[in-house]
Amino acid sequence: MKQTLDVVILKPSKYGPDGYVERFLKGFMPNSTVPYIRSMTPDVVDSVLINTHSIDEYVQTDLAYLDLLKNPATPTLLAVVGAQSHQFQRSLDLAALARESGVQNCVIGGPHAMTCDTSMLQNRGVSFALAEAETIWPTILRDAIRGQLQPVYGAAQRWAKELDAPVLIPPSREALRRYVVPMLGIYPARGCPFTCNFCSVIKIAGRQIRSQSVETTMASLRAAKTAKIRMVAFVSDNANKYAEIEELLEQMIAEQINIPFFVQCDTQISKDENLVRLLGRAGCFQMFVGVESFRRDVLLAAHKTQNHPSQYKNIVRLCRENGITTHFSNIIGFPGQSRQDILDHNRILREIDPDIVSFYILCPIPGTAQYDEFLAEGRITEPNLDRFDATTLTWKHDLSSTELDDLLFESYRRFYSLPHLGATMLRRFGRNKFDSICLQGGAFQIFNRFMGHKHIHPMSGGVWRIRLDSAADYRALRRKHFGYDLVPLPKSLALSATDAELNRRVKSAL
Ligand code: SF4
Repeated sequence: MKQTLDVVILKPSKYGPDGYVERFLKGFMPNSTVPYIRSMTPDVVDSVLINTHSIDEYVQTDLAYLDLLKNPATPTLLAVVGAQSHQFQRSLDLAALARESGVQNCVIGGPHAMTCDTSMLQNRGVSFALAEAETIWPTILRDAIRGQLQPVYGAAQRWAKELDAPVLIPPSREALRRYVVPMLGIYPARGCPFTCNFCSVIKIAGRQIRSQSVETTMASLRAAKTAKIRMVAFVSDNANKYAEIEELLEQMIAEQINIPFFVQCDTQISKDENLVRLLGRAGCFQMFVGVESFRRDVLLAAHKTQNHPSQYKNIVRLCRENGITTHFSNIIGFPGQSRQDILDHNRILREIDPDIVSFYILCPIPGTAQYDEFLAEGRITEPNLDRFDATTLTWKHDLSSTELDDLLFESYRRFYSLPHLGATMLRRFGRNKFDSICLQGGAFQIFNRFMGHKHIHPMSGGVWRIRLDSAADYRALRRKHFGYDLVPLPKSLALSATDAELNRRVKSAL
């Protein structure tokens, strides 16, 4: 019989404020990293059969999947992927559980390990991936087959100069049924040239935009169509900065891909009428834009110099003319912001009238420039990494945590009024687009309003929370394997010379 390696590709959840692992009857939308890594994993490596298991912990409604870690039948590699800082302690606990049960190969990757110092946790039987998966995943698989993972992968270089991306294998329709928005995430490009100080994207993906070939993206879209995927999210951060976007959209139109898709753009899209028109023709149904604030002085202080609030209204107009809904993302709780400032922000937002909005509380995300500044100034008050998810206050602000919490949910309630819901539905109806996307959009708005009343962040992961296991169940394991009850707040990781050089090239090109 051939040798087999079980590869468990697991996106971790996080511990909620009550200590329970956050799990939902239905997740909000699927994570994109799990299918991506799954698609990079061959069926056979060095004559060893690779048996993959794709798991998104947010939508596990019982603990049966933990048997893969607790009772491994064959040699196993646990790859915890896409772990952000607020998911990092959960990642450590899963790895500790696996190690305790005899799983020899455990590796944790994702934004936290890539951008933060994990040296205090290294050489304790769990490996850390400090670079993009494309550059290290084949080596990790080979080392796992030998049962000898290295303590750290990718320390010398975080980013690949060229992207060698896989054609995506779409998840099954059954797997997608676990989500309210059953989208497949596709990354045509990665990176963002800007320098917003609160942003982790530029630390995770760099400022140089690197793209996969248009043909790879088209092949993933064709596979999605064959698999009857109903929606796609282009998860690249700024579609309008991706050099081949027009070529891709033209090909999608020519081949009649006809899968409604979501994009993210920066606010400079307001000047690119042709691109918005093309996006509409190719099937874009929603554009996500990080507007953050209507105060130019606040934006300048956050180094988001490319945002000009006077242009926001134009984005709504352009999108509306082309049948695209606008999703404006907002941050409340910038330094010095008062209650009245936030109420003024909400008033202007309602006047500009995007279709969808989301609000976050300013969070110094570990690894970012703002985190470094706040940490050095002693402004961070929250010791628990689980809380660094932009839904609660983690640092010294003139407003209290309770005041900001109240303002966050009041912002949702005020924006998602019944007249707003009626107006957005009527607009779609007016364009003969009273379809499933429209109904989902309506349901999403009602959901946001409901969550505003319940004081639960709508983007916390899904609907109908299920409480199964909690941090307390893993405390002894975390202490035994890593020596901590709470992992100390880390220092950010400095870029290697190679990565810094890649960023420098952008500077000279801007
Ligand atoms: S524009 Fe968006 S992705 Fe780019 S640096 Fe700013 S916040 Fe990050």
